[in-house]
Amino acid sequence: MIGFDLDGTIYHMSPVIKYVAKVYFGKDTPNGIIPGYNLSEVYGLTEAQIRELIIKCQEEKWLTPDRLIPGAKEVLEYLVNHQGEPLIIVTARTQTDWVKNFLEVSLDVDPRKISVFHSRSINKGECLYKLGLEYFLDDYWEALLSVQQHGVQPLLFEQEWNLKLPSDRSHAFQMFERIKDWDHMKDFLVKVG
Ligand SMILES: [Mg+2]
Repeated sequence: MIGFDLDGTIYHMSPVIKYVAKVYFGKDTPNGIIPGYNLSEVYGLTEAQIRELIIKCQEEKWLTPDRLIPGAKEVLEYLVNHQGEPLIIVTARTQTDWVKNFLEVSLDVDPRKISVFHSRSINKGECLYKLGLEYFLDDYWEALLSVQQHGVQPLLFEQEWNLKLPSDRSHAFQMFERIKDWDHMKDFLVKVG
């Protein structure tokens, strides 16, 4: 069984971050690209401002079907409707009911097959282990490190902020299998399914 992260993996969060940074904090995204996971560094905002930014970005109004990452809809529907697997989401978001509703309106799958769990990124491994998952797809290095430590195979979803290995931890990260887009994810599911 496989599980998925939401933001930056299934849900196209980066355009929302860029918009909120500009409109609420007056910050442009340099070259239109978020080059790392540390938003405080990217935008020159304090940690408190970044917390505020994230809260704004996680408002329910942004969770609309057009913000699925291209290809995710087809592949997740394939997983559930063709492979007969459940759709398991583990997200750092606390409003799991908003996420479940978003997936129900965005995907043509039986809503009873969708489960959404909350876990802080750095503790995801423990949650996945309890759920009995074999694989987990996430865009965040630190979450995948926890995943690996609990015997679940980490799959790194490539995004603009994780293309460069963080130099201090590169030894831990370079072994992660990389998934470059949702077409690639489909190939992976066919292979292991
Ligand atoms: Mg993520």
